[in-house]
Parts: sequence; structure tokens; C-alpha cells
Amino acid sequence: MIVYGYRGSHLRTEPIPGVICPHCAAPEALQVSLYCRYAYVYWIPLFPFAKPAVAGCVRCRLTWEGKALPAEVRSSVRSTKKQTRLPLWNWTGTGLLLLALAWGAVDSTRDDRANAAYLAAPRAGDIYTVHENDSAPNYSLLKVVSARGNGVQVVANEFQIDNNHPIDALNAPAKYSKEPFTLTKFDLQIMKNKGQLTDVDRLEE
Ligand SMILES: [Zn+2]
Repeated sequence: MIVYGYRGSHLRTEPIPGVICPHCAAPEALQVSLYCRYAYVYWIPLFPFAKPAVAGCVRCRLTWEGKALPAEVRSSVRSTKKQTRLPLWNWTGTGLLLLALAWGAVDSTRDDRANAAYLAAPRAGDIYTVHENDSAPNYSLLKVVSARGNGVQVVANEFQIDNNHPIDALNAPAKYSKEPFTLTKFDLQIMKNKGQLTDVDRLEE
């Protein structure tokens, strides 16, 4: 299956007035057809890259294109080309890609903001994704048991997995230690700045 390549599509056909066919000498029988050539991936057009023109005679059916275009039709072909814009749908894929990137950026800033807000005001039930060092892809969880003043009591999950979203696999009450320990909001902030605390989830919301 070919998933990328390029394709042509017809844009318009216009008569070329005042020129006789260089082959059969028929008057007013020449016309020019414009096409757009665009790249696609999975049937979605990405961007246009050429606007080829084909001139032809409706009487003798002869056609010319590119360098073979007869000199007497060239100016007419050129002005038709100039008046024809490439259709916007040629850019569909590129537009979709940009939208997806923009949405991704908005979404991740929103997540960052929520994380910062949760971290500044911890609540029982908050779950922190923690990650000890960058060399090993080991992730685990800390669960907030209670938060009072500057102190945050947490229990550590006793398991870890090599996936940066461990909450689905590890967040079962039996998987947490029974012995809480206390961190300060300042500790949490340092862990976040060091990349050791990568996500905050507040599940009941
Ligand atoms: Zn002709």
C-alpha cells in the first residue's frame, strides 16, 4: 500500500482566444487546462508544489505542455496561471498537523498549571508521580494522606514501573506502604524542579 506520494487535480480550463492551432490551423480551437500537483500522506493532501499547464486543440486533439508549449500560446498560458490560485484544500494535512501541535501545546501548559496549583495546596488523596533519576525509567507514586500547614504526610507506593504514567497500574490501596512520612511543600517543590516529581493527579475531581 502506498501511503504517500503526489497527485494532480484539475483546476480550470480556459479558451485561448485569437490564436490559430499550430498543427491544424483551426481558429479559436485552442484551450489551456491548469492542474495542481500536491503531496499527500494517507489520502490527505499536505501541500501543493506545482501548477502544470496543458494546452490543446479541440479540433485535432493535439496537446502540448512544459517546454513543448507553442510560443504563440505561452503568454496566454502564463496569464491564466497567474489568475489561478492553488486551492486551500491542498494544505489540509499541513493545517491539521499545525492544529494538533497547537492543541498539544495548550494542553500541556494547562496540565503544568494544574500541577503547580495542586502542589501549592496539597490535599489528602493527591497522587504524585515520582521518578528517582533520569538514567533509569522507573516511576512510582506517593499518595497524600493528610496536609496541614507546611507539612504533607504521604505514603509511598511499594512498586515501580518503567512507564511515566504509573497511576493506572499502581494506584491500588494494597500497593502502598502503611507507614506515612512527612515532606514539606518546599521538599515537593524541589522534587518538582529536579524532575523527580513529574505529575500530580487529583482523582476525585
Ligand atoms: Zn488543431
